[in-house]
Amino acid sequence: MNEFELINRYFKRSAMSNTIALGVGDDCSLLNVPSGRQLAVSVDTLVADVHFPADGDPQAIAERALCVSLSDLAAMGASPLWFTLCLTLPQADERWVAPFSEGLLRVAGHYGCELVGGDTTKGPLAISVQVMGSVEPGKAFVRSGAQPDDLIYVTGTLGDGAAALAAFNRKIKPNSDAFHYLIQRYYHPIPRFNEAGRLAPHVSAAIDVSDGLMADLGHICTASGVGAEVYVENLPLSEAVENFSSNRQQREWALSGGDDYQLCFTVPREHVPAVDALIGSGLKACNIGKITSGNRVTCLLLGEPFTIASKGYNHFG
Ligand code: ADP
Ligand code: MG
Repeated sequence: MNEFELINRYFKRSAMSNTIALGVGDDCSLLNVPSGRQLAVSVDTLVADVHFPADGDPQAIAERALCVSLSDLAAMGASPLWFTLCLTLPQADERWVAPFSEGLLRVAGHYGCELVGGDTTKGPLAISVQVMGSVEPGKAFVRSGAQPDDLIYVTGTLGDGAAALAAFNRKIKPNSDAFHYLIQRYYHPIPRFNEAGRLAPHVSAAIDVSDGLMADLGHICTASGVGAEVYVENLPLSEAVENFSSNRQQREWALSGGDDYQLCFTVPREHVPAVDALIGSGLKACNIGKITSGNRVTCLLLGEPFTIASKGYNHFG
């Protein structure tokens, strides 16, 4: 099967959205940005054996690749519109591409984000997904919006991504329910569109936790010119993480493990009651610290300084 047969069979679909004037198949696609909205664009590359196991399930790899990119749109407060896919494959193996395309298009359909183009090349397996979405001008959650005394929150639980990797590598031995949960969390990170939408009026800055809480909260602090303190006893942990690792390990994972794709966001004091009301009515998020003046990000366990071994993932670090 050649490159064009592969594209036609697995990646070309008729456009569903009327924002797409011309989709896959020409030199460019032609897209109509909804009027009065800003375009939000982000790209992420996943390299085999760096970001996912090369022999992993292709459907799960595809789903994860798209979810990870969509997470950036959610963390910006944007709504998904379209995506492009650059796929580098060692060979045109339909046994791999068919389930890959199935997973990819399933997630795309679920989030209403349509594939509008890409590139297909031969080489070591790598997947690059560029997502595009729209946001009301001036309403995006930028990293630079945090102010001293804002409270810091995260959605869901932290440390599951790191625990999943530890389970893959047999460093921890969860029971089958916990293992299943961790695999789900790793391969199906949920872009937090729902939470972002409800929290939108109350957020001063946000980021998705991809490299680890300390690293990503550090990005908010650097961009905003502030510091932060994180209350280690407040870190939200799943049962799988709590039951199958030591206290120390749980905290390390929650603070510096990557791959969780939760939303970390800051809330000015006057909006805290509204956010707490959303949490009271079922939104899964909790307060884990506060923004300070200065530029240090510190961790406290019951008021005492808490030192962590690793600060999060950095490709060239
Ligand atoms: P060009 O030579 O102009 O770069 P290509 O031959 O790379 O065009 O691609 C032909 C068409 O197929 C283009 O519309 C491109 O966007 C699309 N395409 C190529 N690879 C993919 C892919 N992996 N997923 C979706 N669309 C793709
Ligand atoms: Mg090309």
